[in-house]
Amino acid sequence: MIIKSILTGEKSLRELEKFMRNSLLTVKDLPEGVNERFRAFCDYFIGMSKLPKGRVETRLKNGLIMIEKLRRENLTALPALPQKSANLDSPVKFAKKVGPSREEKLFKLGIITIRDLLYHFPRLYDDWRRPLSILKLRPGERVSAIADIVNVEKRRAKNYTIVTAIVTDGFSNMYLVWFNQEYIYNIIRNAKRLAFSGIVKNDYGRFQVMSPDFEVADTSSPRIAPIYDLTSGISQKVMRIMIEANIPYVHFLEEPIPKGVLEKRKLLGVKKAMYGIHFPQSEYHLRESRKRLAYEEFFLLEVSQLMIRKKFQSKGGVCKKFSGIMSRKFAKSLPFELTKAQKRAIEEIEKDLSDSLAMNRLLQGDVGSGKTVVAEMAILDVIESGFQATFMAPTYVLASQHYERIKSDLSPFGIEVELLTGSTPSTQKTNIKEKMANGDIKLVIGTHALIQKDVSFQNLGLVIIDEQHKFGVKQREALMSKGKAVDTLVMTATPIPRTLSMTLYGDLDVTLIDEMPKGRQKPKTMLVNEAKRDEVFDFVKKEIDNGNGVFWISPLIEESEKMDLKAAKEIYEEFISGPFSNYKVGLLHGKMSSEEKEKVMRQFYEKETQILVATTVVEVGIDISHANVMVIEHPERFGLAQLHQLRGRIGRGGEKSYCFLLTNGAEIERLRYFVHTFDGFALAEYDLKLRGPGEFMGTRQHGIPEFKVANLTEDVDLLFQAREDAEDLIEKDPELLSHPLLLKEINRRYGERVNFVEVG
Ligand code: ADP
Ligand code: MG
Repeated sequence: MIIKSILTGEKSLRELEKFMRNSLLTVKDLPEGVNERFRAFCDYFIGMSKLPKGRVETRLKNGLIMIEKLRRENLTALPALPQKSANLDSPVKFAKKVGPSREEKLFKLGIITIRDLLYHFPRLYDDWRRPLSILKLRPGERVSAIADIVNVEKRRAKNYTIVTAIVTDGFSNMYLVWFNQEYIYNIIRNAKRLAFSGIVKNDYGRFQVMSPDFEVADTSSPRIAPIYDLTSGISQKVMRIMIEANIPYVHFLEEPIPKGVLEKRKLLGVKKAMYGIHFPQSEYHLRESRKRLAYEEFFLLEVSQLMIRKKFQSKGGVCKKFSGIMSRKFAKSLPFELTKAQKRAIEEIEKDLSDSLAMNRLLQGDVGSGKTVVAEMAILDVIESGFQATFMAPTYVLASQHYERIKSDLSPFGIEVELLTGSTPSTQKTNIKEKMANGDIKLVIGTHALIQKDVSFQNLGLVIIDEQHKFGVKQREALMSKGKAVDTLVMTATPIPRTLSMTLYGDLDVTLIDEMPKGRQKPKTMLVNEAKRDEVFDFVKKEIDNGNGVFWISPLIEESEKMDLKAAKEIYEEFISGPFSNYKVGLLHGKMSSEEKEKVMRQFYEKETQILVATTVVEVGIDISHANVMVIEHPERFGLAQLHQLRGRIGRGGEKSYCFLLTNGAEIERLRYFVHTFDGFALAEYDLKLRGPGEFMGTRQHGIPEFKVANLTEDVDLLFQAREDAEDLIEKDPELLSHPLLLKEINRRYGERVNFVEVG
């Protein structure tokens, strides 16, 4: 670093020379062989101020390269090759220090093979190289340090034993205490130095740590100690011992990342990185190991996504021939003008439809941005060209709403639409299926019922999937396989930050509708303290008396013992007997049968009920034009993107609309941000930063792959690099013919999703 600051002029050459002289005096504990090289390195700089300017500069630049080299070489020391008695895919009981009894416990952590054991990465690290400094300790915080032992003692009381080690930082002492672990006495009795970690307690003025994690450090050099996730019966120490004993197996790991990429991105090889993630020899080693493994996770995912994309594309498409007369007529019949974004979207889609490649496009747009209109135009084009189209939605309620709307929109154009769901009566089902198979109907809307085995089409040309993240790639493929080289359009209203959409939908082309229809009113959003519920009741009553509908949203269906939350059922009971006893209240939640849900929705739609108490089932797509008030209980329990989707359910009739968040003060900053922000993408981005990808959509069923090392928020740069490298690679070698090891690793990790054929 000091070299860099001289190059930038911040520091003088003299300072560098002084620094190097000091380094020579102070640096001691270098590994064998490194010492001399380090000396040579320092000498290289000393006396440099007498050299001409040009040579000084060369030397400085060389210096940087030398440092990089020194650092790299310094972390090469891999453990010795294991005596090969097992291989990476052998059951973990054949690993060193693991027998059948430990194997059973490891199963609970999902560790089945020796490879799995190596891929059980530390959750954290304790830096045991740091000398203890008692002055700096804060009760309640974790300490990791190395210290000299002053005294070790063992006491026996009535029914327990206490082992205490007194350690010192040279000025004062602190206490390490173990209850009922007498064996520890024998381990540390004659030790001189201990490395340890644990939570500091202030016990009547003296610092102590109860049951610290520790290691005797008399002979071994201090190290950075890995901390693993454990399961009962396996202690941190045992886990460490098991992994350390088997770390030589890294020698059998094969490098999946192409050499060119490793060099371009200056990444460590897989062996060094796998060693370094468990037993880093320095912070530098740890950082580089993490980086390499995080990159690897992104890279493998991106390559697999691009391969899926190629696979879909390579099936070739069917050129659809249409004039667009029908879709244009439809657009003209609408009481509004299409937005620019909608026009652009339909143009992109029509290009996909008419060219010879199969379309795989994601249509992404905020709630109410007008995706459905675009989808309807695509449907008309495809039907005009003589093909059938189908539209799959994740729930019955959504499918039937799409059905009602699309039917009324398209029937003026002579198009017959059918609805196929799990609850379609069986005679009707048989009838519909027959008409689908012989081509009598051109458009079928439905749920998962569409992908059942006995469903077939005469000539399916277009598949539209709504809220794709509720389905998997498999389901998408299942529906696509009902036709030959069909074009696919998936739609989502979930605003997904670009980083995530790359991983979630990396196999799709993306069209964004980034413009809202003009004159759309934003729901007035307000934070209201829970204590003021009564005022909200009054407001709601007034709106109902004006003929408007109200959504009342709760995160829970039923009361739960664990959480003190107002659940939908409770609220419903409260309403019908209390504040709204003179009004009609409906209840909607996910545990109801689809017939019940349908009935409740219909009642609300037809104004038979005026308030609908509901969970997030109403989240996506539902369209009730007279509903203009939404009250959300416990808004802090939702992701902002999810809240935004909920809010998008009101004011669809153009009426002034109101969204109340009943807050108890929790996460108030986040909610304030929501109140003022109406850009779904900004909200999603904000939540992603704040809560991380796991929580991003409020549920784990969002299809975002789980990474062991990589972090979607912090490692965004790596993700972009991996994406770029993956694109280059797939461009040149779409089937990975010359990268068999990469293909093997992708199949190993994403086999279920992708199933690519391995070559050679
Ligand atoms: P999304 O499917 O993206 O949530 P929809 O297609 O359901 O949006 O459109 C929401 C509402 O806005 C519908 O009532 C629709 O008729 C209307 N709409 C769509 N496009 C426009 C537009 N360009 N101008 C005005 N209103 C529009
Ligand atoms: Mg095409």
